[in-house]
Amino acid sequence: MTKKLVILGAGIGGLTAIGELRQRKMLRNSDLEVTLIDQEFTHFQGFTLPWIMRGWRTAEQATLTPSDQALDGVRTITGTVTTIDTQRKKVLGEHFATDYDALIVALGARNNPGKVPGLAEAAAAGVAHHFYSIAEANHAHHALKDFAGGNVAVLIPSLPYRCPVAPYEGALLIHDYLIEHGRRTHTQIDIFTVEPQPMPSAGTGPGRKLMTLLEDAHIGFHPNMQCQSVDAATRLIQFQDEITAPFDLLLFVPPHEPASGLAGGPGWISVDAHTLATEHEGVWAIGDITGITTPSGRPLPKAAIMAKGHAKTAVGGALQYLGIASETTAFNGHGYCFIDTGDHESARGIGDFYALPDPAVELVGPSKELHQLKQQEERDWANLWATKPRDPHAS
Ligand SMILES: Cc1cc2nc3c(=O)[nH]c(=O)nc-3n(C[C@H](O)[C@H](O)[C@H](O)COP(=O)(O)OP(=O)(O)OC[C@H]3O[C@@H](n4cnc5c(N)ncnc54)[C@H](O)[C@@H]3O)c2cc1C
Repeated sequence: MTKKLVILGAGIGGLTAIGELRQRKMLRNSDLEVTLIDQEFTHFQGFTLPWIMRGWRTAEQATLTPSDQALDGVRTITGTVTTIDTQRKKVLGEHFATDYDALIVALGARNNPGKVPGLAEAAAAGVAHHFYSIAEANHAHHALKDFAGGNVAVLIPSLPYRCPVAPYEGALLIHDYLIEHGRRTHTQIDIFTVEPQPMPSAGTGPGRKLMTLLEDAHIGFHPNMQCQSVDAATRLIQFQDEITAPFDLLLFVPPHEPASGLAGGPGWISVDAHTLATEHEGVWAIGDITGITTPSGRPLPKAAIMAKGHAKTAVGGALQYLGIASETTAFNGHGYCFIDTGDHESARGIGDFYALPDPAVELVGPSKELHQLKQQEERDWANLWATKPRDPHAS
């Protein structure tokens, strides 16, 4: 009898799962029906969003739609998933219902600026911006273009958030943009974060090196700052102990939450760190929607490379569960993240996040070669999936 594998989310994790199934010749296979569900079937590569803010990409270039050819052999449903019924093995949406024998949940994370008092109001008033969606990154770019100089505050009010280097990269790219446009000398840039150091999930070394890069760019770094509220009218951020910080332009990381409160309650989905299996029979969760604690007790970063690794493991686990294949490889916690440092250079944090007693991760670079490697990765993914391959000559 044909088994039903359903994948929720056609972003980085969900599409990598499809790629893995194709490689294993499991699409158009009489033993298996593969269904992919997404609310809109467009996605982005996270690292292109800071580039939109910087002005190196347009919203159109960053928006990726998987082609029919890339999804050949896959049954697709466009719709918003509202419920996963793990008892009856059913996925429900507003206009659809489908059964599964095995399920992979790859619905990602979503932004909720409303969790910090005053933040959504400051964003609505146009004095605060973020780059955690294509549209908002575009607004942030226009705000930067119009910014005449003064205080730029980069605020990380809560954990977890996607890509542990993204806000630091954002600050460095703002620095880079303002130098290029002759406005850096009359601008102070400060980062206020709830974290004790940058990239805490990578151990102490990479964060220290990143702090040196910030120092070299004359960017102030303020750790352990608990944001209480933001006041758009006075343009002040309120922290603990009545500490305040003024801003003329506020760039913030929006508080994150799981894209859907599914399969195990409203929080991040708890999975086995090596198999990605959830507590529910026949259900795996991958990518940003998971909450994984590494063997050294740190949160595993929410990053594309992790979602890709999870996807390959979960596909193996699901096929094994369905009795279709026997081969599966455990997720090993290896990964990396590029960080743009300006002047078309990138550094890269790379290593083993599962190492003991501490993660074995180092920050290498920055260099022009790493920036080119990042661009190559962007092109490779777009060429694999998207209807419109990106312009290879874009900077
Ligand atoms: C600003 C920014 C910078 C980043 N920089 C980097 C970086 O430099 N390096 C790196 O490795 N990672 C980076 N990331 C993180 C990376 O983008 C994510 O880790 C990766 O996309 C996770 O893949 P995912 O499949 O879990 O989620 P996503 O890729 O977000 O896919 C989730 C999919 O689920 C769909 N969906 C959500 N809810 C529903 C629903 N209820 N019903 C139906 N469909 C739904 C969405 O439409 C989406 O297609 C960055 C992210 C951001 C936002």
